[in-house]
Amino acid sequence: MKKLLFAVVILSFFLAMPAAQEQKDPAADVMKNLQLVEKTIAVPARPLAGFDHITVKDLMAMMAFLSHDLLEGREVGTRGYDTAAAYAQSLFTLWGLKPGGDLPKAPVVPSRGNPARSAARPERSFLQEFVMKEALASTASVLLEQGSGEARRTRAFAPQVDFVFDSSLPLDLSAPVVFAGYGISERSVGYDDLAGIDVKDKVVLILSDAPGKDDPASPLQRKEVKDKYFPAMPSMRRGGADFVKASAIFKRGALAVLVVKSDISAGGDIHWEIVGQRQVRDEKPILPDERKKLLIPGSKGMPWEGRSLVRVSREMADAVLAGAGETVAGLQSKIAARYRPHSFALKGTRLSLGNTVNYGLVKSANVIAWIEGSDPQLRDQAVVVGAHLDHLGRRGDYIFNGAEDNASGACGVLAMARALALNPEKPKRSVVFCLWTGEEEGLLGSRWYVEHPLFGMEKTAAYLNLDMIAMPWSEAGLQRMVRMLNVKDSEALLKKIRVEKFLPLSLAAEAPELRGALEEANRSVGLDILFRETPRDMDRMSGGSDHAPFAMAGRPWAFFISGMSDVYHTPGDSMEKFDGTVMERMSRLIYLAAYLLADK
Ligand SMILES: [Zn+2]
Repeated sequence: MKKLLFAVVILSFFLAMPAAQEQKDPAADVMKNLQLVEKTIAVPARPLAGFDHITVKDLMAMMAFLSHDLLEGREVGTRGYDTAAAYAQSLFTLWGLKPGGDLPKAPVVPSRGNPARSAARPERSFLQEFVMKEALASTASVLLEQGSGEARRTRAFAPQVDFVFDSSLPLDLSAPVVFAGYGISERSVGYDDLAGIDVKDKVVLILSDAPGKDDPASPLQRKEVKDKYFPAMPSMRRGGADFVKASAIFKRGALAVLVVKSDISAGGDIHWEIVGQRQVRDEKPILPDERKKLLIPGSKGMPWEGRSLVRVSREMADAVLAGAGETVAGLQSKIAARYRPHSFALKGTRLSLGNTVNYGLVKSANVIAWIEGSDPQLRDQAVVVGAHLDHLGRRGDYIFNGAEDNASGACGVLAMARALALNPEKPKRSVVFCLWTGEEEGLLGSRWYVEHPLFGMEKTAAYLNLDMIAMPWSEAGLQRMVRMLNVKDSEALLKKIRVEKFLPLSLAAEAPELRGALEEANRSVGLDILFRETPRDMDRMSGGSDHAPFAMAGRPWAFFISGMSDVYHTPGDSMEKFDGTVMERMSRLIYLAAYLLADK
């Protein structure tokens, strides 16, 4: 999933943009959400002492440890991760925070004749442990059946050759097939591939991307949907818009979605991805993505889990369509002729999909600490601040140090915990500091916490998520971002924004207290923040990092990610690339916002 991150961050950032009919003037919308702080004001007195304790020196000192080769990239279920967790535990203890993890498993046995001791409330640990199932090996299969009686013929396809199906869940289904064009339903521009066809309990074959990539006549080139289907930013997406399309088709009751690439001229068919054909760069070795496939037994899945999204080769798609005497290329030109959908059910065609999985068990733990609020009435409510501590581990001699992803965020959480512990005046509500495990394998730690919270979700005022806070934005990145905002005078806007202080900030909509606290905090920190509120009905899509489970639980959230370096998810993500200034600014902003929100 995490390769999706950037695509999803950009996607969710632009999906949050109000639709055309509401967005009279994109520039007005942008200016309404752009907070430019030329001159900062003094930090409010109550949180001040702690604020000053957040420094580049301390942040870099902690990053040096967490991103050290000795921790071997902190992969879940490894000594490296457990060492990082033990380090955080000892720091929380050192600073006097309260443990927020598990209660002792074995009940305290009351000793005869000493009732006092047995009355003592058992002490929690800082660790919140849980066990996950690991898919050690999985074998997928797809069988095509066409015709009936004498004319019935079958064909089996090969995984990682004809199709790619990456799932840790067992699967066994057989169903009729429907072709649904590009799987796009955009009534606002008069294009709907799903109109007039029933996809319920079917296997649905769609084309990737959208029709009319370079044709202004295409309805999908219209301003209000263009960024969704033809984003200006060259995305690294693996799934992105197709994932969104498939989610909408699953919502209509489809059992599986097969995606065939609509354009194989540039990057070739899926075979190229499978053989891993990528531009070789010395510091970016080709490393197989051997990430553990983990899932939490019995846990409520995330929107993308349990969804049978299969990427198929052109050859396989043509074999499926042969039953109707059609081909992918033929259907593409029929659709492109007048940009009219050409969806239909494939009579007499069935597909059987299977996935057998062998499992093992892996144990890991979140690290949870908290500071109690000062107000007797409000201290049973909490603001939660978190960051994932795990990363990708090592591949042979290559260590994914994960300095930016996400030692930077973890150090931010540690620095804020220390700051609040040292700050004499505690805010009215309690504040919980969380370091998650298993983010790289599916947000597993934060999902476990949301289902086993220290303070119930109804008592959780907001969740502030830090994931990669070390890198400043680049001029080029800012220009690309501004171009996508569709404002008439992008040059003028560019002149207003200081790139080194720029922060696009995604957060939940309809959370005025959270937005207010962030704006107030920023008046003392002085960043140029572009707020992007994600409508609640889009919460399910605000994936990509640990705020997603809180969004799914309906809690207000904000997602802090600074610039994005090109060492993302490579062994090159190591601490010498960062100087700590962005980390300090981001950590101070979030500390202040969390304090102000908890003190409201
Ligand atoms: Zn991350």
